[in-house]
Amino acid sequence: MHDAAPSLAQRRADLAKFRVTIIGRRKAIEDAINADFGHRCFGDWNSVPNDNEEHQHMTIGPSLPLRGSCECSACSFEVHTLPKARFRCHCLICQAFNGKPFADVVAVRAKGVVLKNAGNISFKKYRPPPNFNRGVCRTCGKPVVEVAGVGPLKVMFIPVSNFEPEARLPPVRMDIFYHRRVLDVPGSLPKYSGYYPSLLAVGKMIMSGL
Ligand SMILES: [Zn+2]
Ligand SMILES: [Zn+2]
Repeated sequence: MHDAAPSLAQRRADLAKFRVTIIGRRKAIEDAINADFGHRCFGDWNSVPNDNEEHQHMTIGPSLPLRGSCECSACSFEVHTLPKARFRCHCLICQAFNGKPFADVVAVRAKGVVLKNAGNISFKKYRPPPNFNRGVCRTCGKPVVEVAGVGPLKVMFIPVSNFEPEARLPPVRMDIFYHRRVLDVPGSLPKYSGYYPSLLAVGKMIMSGL
């Protein structure tokens, strides 16, 4: 049809596969939610983008790669793909993990991220299931990256503060887990409270933005 057709078709196929995976995991996800409300942020990605959303995100991005590191620079990384999704998460684990009132992170496809000293990153699943790993630097103890998902749809969440100041990052698009906030955020961005609304909002943004 047109030049973009093959890649879009491939993406749709990937998304369809991912959706099947998610449906299969729904029981496990629901069990996790029932077991401990509010412990995870980005698990339930039911939403797939429509054509309009895909085209909205076909924009020219910043120069790549983007570079950054943990606070002490022992764990550095390069991001070779454009981060499209950025949000603030006010959940209790993000507060504790980051030592801040909220997490301000970008989401990028993991295959576009090169971890330079991955052996110095200690990954820990705060709560299983599924597949949500938070990595801290073994030297400074500060967050490096977080990993969610599996296979080609693995996604990394990287704190904005870990990027070099000159890295051009997208603007914050929303606040989630806002009911857990310890700090009010000014402005008119969408704010989602509650577990399911937060998951659905960020899941839709990520799936449409990657
Ligand atoms: Zn460090
Ligand atoms: Zn969170």
